[in-house]
Amino acid sequence: MALVVQKFGGSSVADAASIRRVAHRIVETRQAGNDVVVVVSAMGDTTDELLDLAASVSAEPPARELDILLTAGERISMALLAIAIDALGVPAQSYTGQQAGVLTDTVHGKASIVGVAPRRIVHALERGAVAIVAGFQGVSEEQDVTTLGRGGSDTTAVALAAALGADVCEIYTDVDGLFTADPRIVPTARRITSITTEETLEMAAHGAKILHLRAVEYARRYGVPIHVRSSFSTKEGTWITDDNDHEPQEDTMEAPIISGVAHDRSQGKITVVGVPDVPGAAARIFETVARAGANIDMIVQNVSSEATGLTDISFTLPEADGAATITALRAAEDDLRFTDLRYDDQIGKLSLVGAGMRSHPGVSARLFGALSEAGINIEMISTSEIRLSVVTRIEDLDAAVRAVHTAFDLDSAEAEAVVYGGSGR
Ligand code: ASP
Ligand code: MG
Repeated sequence: MALVVQKFGGSSVADAASIRRVAHRIVETRQAGNDVVVVVSAMGDTTDELLDLAASVSAEPPARELDILLTAGERISMALLAIAIDALGVPAQSYTGQQAGVLTDTVHGKASIVGVAPRRIVHALERGAVAIVAGFQGVSEEQDVTTLGRGGSDTTAVALAAALGADVCEIYTDVDGLFTADPRIVPTARRITSITTEETLEMAAHGAKILHLRAVEYARRYGVPIHVRSSFSTKEGTWITDDNDHEPQEDTMEAPIISGVAHDRSQGKITVVGVPDVPGAAARIFETVARAGANIDMIVQNVSSEATGLTDISFTLPEADGAATITALRAAEDDLRFTDLRYDDQIGKLSLVGAGMRSHPGVSARLFGALSEAGINIEMISTSEIRLSVVTRIEDLDAAVRAVHTAFDLDSAEAEAVVYGGSGR
């Protein structure tokens, strides 16, 4: 008998029929002899609809009230799911984040979990009931209801799994797991059978829409094995884990070098032109950028011109931070003494991720070779131990992802990915 935490995303509980379907699935797990704790997201697009409603009564809804409003979404789905399970003759009880003992800091809209005291959940299991917990919410040290940020139900599930010492945290979504690339761009993308938390974090940080980042960080820290799978099929999904019990046994004697190709269209590039090439110039620029609150990713500094002693510095950042950063740099123009400032939001970023890069030379040569054969120009490059990222023109990005996917032998013979629900979550 195992203790299983199952998380169902909004697309898996979008309407009454879906809730009944999910209830059956939970009951099957229970009747197979497992203890089951379920974490559920709000139905379908409920969270977006509640946000729209708030925006239509105020341009600036107070964060505390917004949190109370948004947590209502998960209250609806948790109660309906408990009702549906009960109707199948299995006892079930739903709990809000507060009742489940999810304790957070006081940062409304983006709270961090500071502790989990799941006393009532343990009691529910002891009574033989299925416990249903509202995802994405907790209670702060000041007794206020908080939310964990969009997509936060994943984090609730992993945090509960860690606190309860669960054997597995199953994340149910509407695709069959994680794929080697976005199947909408690469129809021959392959399902990843097993991936480390480190690789998952790199993929997610560089554009792959996988899981809430903090959920993976939590799983890494507490050693919670995650199994991402579809609630619409019974297929085995993707294991995210750092122990190798879940490694594929058969044909692959050696783990693949590359886990996948992530892409990101949401970055922009700022170029500061004609900066004096003297000590302290970069420091002043990036102090200004940091004060504007931008999270920068790649940085490139050109060789300076001998005649002028001036150089150009380019960096990428989320498009959402572009305007504020340009404004901040302009305001500091007298101090920074650049000759021009350029902003380019027509860039795309491709990232190749794989722990095997550490021990395999030639990965960059193969990547650049594939892009060159496809006639795609590289504008910037950055690397970590297990990642290689390049910036291209945005219109070249899809072709770049396909070329690289093929070059690293990631294509499967047939299209494997099926999106059952429609949202990818
Ligand atoms: N319902 C919340 C959202 O849509 C939390 C979640 O789905 O994980 O962001
Ligand atoms: Mg959601």
